[in-house]
Amino acid sequence: MSRKQKFKTEVSKLLDIVINSLYSEKYIFLRELISNASDACDKLRYYSLMNPGIAKDNGEFKIVIKPNAEENTLTISDNGIGMNKEDLINHLSTIAKSGTADFVNNAKDNGSVVDLIGKFGVGFYSAFMVANKVEVTTRRAGEEQAYKWISDGIDGYEIEESSREKIGTDIKLYLKDDAKDFTDTIYLRHIIRTYSDHINYPIVLDLGKAGEETVNTGSALWTKNKADITEEQYNEFYHHISRNFDTPWMKLHFKAEGSIEYTGLLFIPSEAPYDLFQPDRQQSLKLYVNRVFISDKVDDLMPAYLRFVKGIIDSADLPLNISREMLQQNALIAKIRTGTVSRILKELKKRAEDYNDYMKFWKNFGMAFKEGIYEDPANRVEIAELSRFYSTNSTEKLTSLDEYISRVHEGQTTIYYITGDDIPTLRNNPQLEAFKEKGIEVLLLTDPIDEFWVQTLTNFKGYPIKHVSQADIDLKFERKEPRADEGSLKKLTDFMADLFKDEVGKVAATEKLTKSPVSLTVENGQMSIHLERLMRNHQQQTAFASSRILEVNPYHPLIIKLADSMFEKDERKTVEEVCRLLLDQAKISEGEAISDSSFFSEKLSDYILRGWNK
Ligand code: ADP
Ligand code: MG
Repeated sequence: MSRKQKFKTEVSKLLDIVINSLYSEKYIFLRELISNASDACDKLRYYSLMNPGIAKDNGEFKIVIKPNAEENTLTISDNGIGMNKEDLINHLSTIAKSGTADFVNNAKDNGSVVDLIGKFGVGFYSAFMVANKVEVTTRRAGEEQAYKWISDGIDGYEIEESSREKIGTDIKLYLKDDAKDFTDTIYLRHIIRTYSDHINYPIVLDLGKAGEETVNTGSALWTKNKADITEEQYNEFYHHISRNFDTPWMKLHFKAEGSIEYTGLLFIPSEAPYDLFQPDRQQSLKLYVNRVFISDKVDDLMPAYLRFVKGIIDSADLPLNISREMLQQNALIAKIRTGTVSRILKELKKRAEDYNDYMKFWKNFGMAFKEGIYEDPANRVEIAELSRFYSTNSTEKLTSLDEYISRVHEGQTTIYYITGDDIPTLRNNPQLEAFKEKGIEVLLLTDPIDEFWVQTLTNFKGYPIKHVSQADIDLKFERKEPRADEGSLKKLTDFMADLFKDEVGKVAATEKLTKSPVSLTVENGQMSIHLERLMRNHQQQTAFASSRILEVNPYHPLIIKLADSMFEKDERKTVEEVCRLLLDQAKISEGEAISDSSFFSEKLSDYILRGWNK
């Protein structure tokens, strides 16, 4: 006897969204169930390579679609791997993938149902868009006992023991009244041809007395000639393997010949996945050996910085019965990866010629792609060439490093950058004032990853890449305005150094500032303030105070005034307060938090009022 189990909250929510969606393209449920049946056949085919004989009575792999107009049901059957009781619980009754629950909780209305179904691998549940009851009868390869899973998709499911002559799965849908169309063979044939034609196994329509009819063309799409494949077929294939429903931004179909032969059909999506930066996110290419699906978990097939590339690699040169473990660190796999990566980079180079088009790729994947600068030494220069950055050159367009070089200033032999939390704050960082004055372009880097690649790519085409604080050019320029008296200035900087001894390592006059009275920077070769902040946010210990320099602009009227007041005893309190305000100001320009915000706001209003009243 079976007992009704309740769905976990996130499954209920998901089902609620699916069932109540007004989504008109309900027929996608069939594509999803066929796709699962195809995956199940892939799995059994691979499994039986390792366990010969396990599928000996199973016949040819196929997927059978059986409509029954009288009952108003539709059954999708496969002779794939099947499921046991645990599988039914783990795969059909919970949402396993991390992040899915969050997404479900945030998904508002039906606009996102298709996304939901695709991106989160919850295709099975789409059955409830057309059915008010689903029965899954299934028997797992290597096991005798079959099970039946039954659910109305609303409050729970039941699992009972059942029987099935052979291994495989039947999914029987009790169609809703408004889904009667799905017993119509003409309509079914049309949907299958449109959305599932590329499936590698025969999809057979069971016409009852009229016999069986194979509906799809069924060969592995990548083995066909490019000229014989339509754009729609490519897109449907992409949808099938990636579970994305966008039109891919890039498609790459190639055959590599030489010491090792393989075919690749790769795509770059036009939308970023939600989990691009989740630590457990892996590469997602599927590996086939001579059309037999082997694994989609061969990490070495694609480097991590290209983890967004979807598609398949098929090579007849790999042994068919290779185990998944043996595929890691396999020399042939490494060769395939090298060849495939260089093809991808070459294609990106072509696409980069069209700025607007390339930006669509860059905004989705640039942040991950830049990881390649330190992850892939062999392709470091190409990856850097393909990277784009904000810079002081333009507020709209991003620049490449080559473009930057084409604009360098006479006598400039270095590429300069500054790092920080966001572009607007960076543009106003006082450290850039002298660069602006001299017309020297500076890259504005805001991704956490930037702090890391700049440590590996220290030189690009003969140009060292340096943080602005390490400028090795003369940033002085002719100045006409009055300068603080040297002696008083010395007294002021000594005073500040003592006052701020716990917060900065050094206070020094600089010739680099134009508008700002003060600015924070670090000693040459020290970790940037931005990186320090990132590390602090991750609870990393940093020895920051000692490496900081508070730079003082001797041409600024406020600094002149302060310096002059150094010799007047009764001004001490004011001098001290103003100095504290200045340090806070320097911190704010750098994107740092200030230590005592109530002091800051109180004194700021105070001084404003005093100035105003004069
Ligand atoms: P996904 O296909 O992305 O994993 P689905 O919701 O479509 O997500 O399916 C969930 C899981 O249920 C599958 O991963 C698989 O383990 C199992 N499953 C679904 N249909 C079948 C089937 N016909 N045969 C065997 N297992 C299946
Ligand atoms: Mg699926």
